[in-house]
Amino acid sequence: MKPSVEPRLPAWWLEQALASEGGAEPAPPLAGDERADVAIVGGGYTGLWTALALRDRDPSLRVTLLEAEICGAGPSGRNGGFLHGYWAKLASTRGVLGDEDAVRLAQAAEAIVPGVRAFAEGRGEDIRLREAGMLMVSAAPAQDAAVDHAVAAAAAVGHSEEAVALSREEVAARCASPTFRRGVFFRDGATVEPGLLVRALRRAVIDAGVTVHERTPVTRIRGQELTTPGGVLHAPQIVLATNAALSAWRPASRSLTNFGSYVVLTEPAPEALEAIGWTGGEAIVDGRMFLHYFRTTSDGRVLMGSGSGPIGFAGRVDDRFSLDGPTAARAEAGLRRLLPGLAGVPVERAWGGPIDVSSDHLPFFGTKPGTRIHYGAGYSGHGVGPSWLGGRILASLALDADDEWTRLPLVTRRVPTLPPEPIRRVGGGLVRSAIMACEAAEEQGRRAPLAARAGAALPRLLGMELGTR
Ligand SMILES: Cc1cc2nc3c(=O)[nH]c(=O)nc-3n(C[C@H](O)[C@H](O)[C@H](O)COP(=O)(O)OP(=O)(O)OC[C@H]3O[C@@H](n4cnc5c(N)ncnc54)[C@H](O)[C@@H]3O)c2cc1C
Repeated sequence: MKPSVEPRLPAWWLEQALASEGGAEPAPPLAGDERADVAIVGGGYTGLWTALALRDRDPSLRVTLLEAEICGAGPSGRNGGFLHGYWAKLASTRGVLGDEDAVRLAQAAEAIVPGVRAFAEGRGEDIRLREAGMLMVSAAPAQDAAVDHAVAAAAAVGHSEEAVALSREEVAARCASPTFRRGVFFRDGATVEPGLLVRALRRAVIDAGVTVHERTPVTRIRGQELTTPGGVLHAPQIVLATNAALSAWRPASRSLTNFGSYVVLTEPAPEALEAIGWTGGEAIVDGRMFLHYFRTTSDGRVLMGSGSGPIGFAGRVDDRFSLDGPTAARAEAGLRRLLPGLAGVPVERAWGGPIDVSSDHLPFFGTKPGTRIHYGAGYSGHGVGPSWLGGRILASLALDADDEWTRLPLVTRRVPTLPPEPIRRVGGGLVRSAIMACEAAEEQGRRAPLAARAGAALPRLLGMELGTR
């Protein structure tokens, strides 16, 4: 299967954001010896929010951020731009955390959208924030259960207003497609243009007095020394905010693997959006395990994503996460099936990136025992919003604080371990193929072969989560 446009980098979002900066030069690489109170590795949302939170809490702190490429080159400049907390995930977080902590987490995460809004407004940055909520739609009979579970989960914890059931007609009033059977509306949801957000954060961090070195990959950390090709940074507190790269780092790798996620972006088609009534700006996901996610842009394009990309092996982040044509083709097939009203609208761009998937599909944050190296990863395809929490948590860990952030279950829970390699890659790959075969058959109204159904059921039988939902 081939997409009409091969995936490539940089992502359109980042390209647009860089163009709006008028060709600003990257920050200079680290050269020679430097010292800081806190070193942050990684210039995506997590590292940048951490840097801001640290300077906000203690303006005298010397904070230095080291980024291998340029800020936003990773998934923070490539994602779908769905910005939300944890109400939409309640059906699964109840099982992982129990009701009390699942609600506590969802309530803490309600601060994310207002927090991002306040950041952008405070700095006069236009990140194209659109607070229109999020829909999950059922696009096959087998997906009805995902919608129903989301509605039931919110009702069971006394918060039915956070997941409101929508009939076929009510869904169609927001976005008309013959494929949509029914849905659920989450008010906790917004979209941003990801490249604009990450570059706005970079500007804010530099203005806040953080030293930023780009094109500065950290190749070794020993004690308080971070080695890079051009110099060494010495810092008593170190924050690792390198996302998918942490799947190769022992303290995190036991509970972390990577999956590819790919998107296609259409040419502008505001009339076609008008015709299907999708003008309200809602972010939409379907009810698959390897879900489709889709949204509109400010100039009337549609972005369609598919979380069905390749599974990683032993922490390697290679071209399979950015150049995999078949996954981009699946995203495009999703666009055509889910939104037939856009049939004549060409795809202009495609790109992909790695998703750091944790064993229980929630991010985890901690400090490597016996060190002052703090880390966070495992957003599981859902980090645009939660990285705002992550920055606060990592700042608290670096400051050795015991506070509302470090007491969140994202820090305190026990994260299950995944099977070791190569079992993880081989087993995960087989189960992934089985789930994809089942979901494709369900969409075509067929019953999947028995072997595929058995393989797809395996993770649940073993009490594990798989996929990117
Ligand atoms: C295609 C796609 C679509 C997605 N859609 C959504 C969505 O709609 N909503 C959502 O919530 N989430 C989405 N995600 C996930 C989201 O993008 C991530 O969870 C989020 O960007 C993580 O931010 P981060 O800062 O932790 O990681 P990153 O953005 O990956 O930043 C980590 C940085 O660390 C740098 N780095 C790595 N190793 C080193 C080193 N050794 N030295 C120095 N620097 C290093 C990298 O270059 C990178 O810039 C999507 C992801 C992808 C790939």
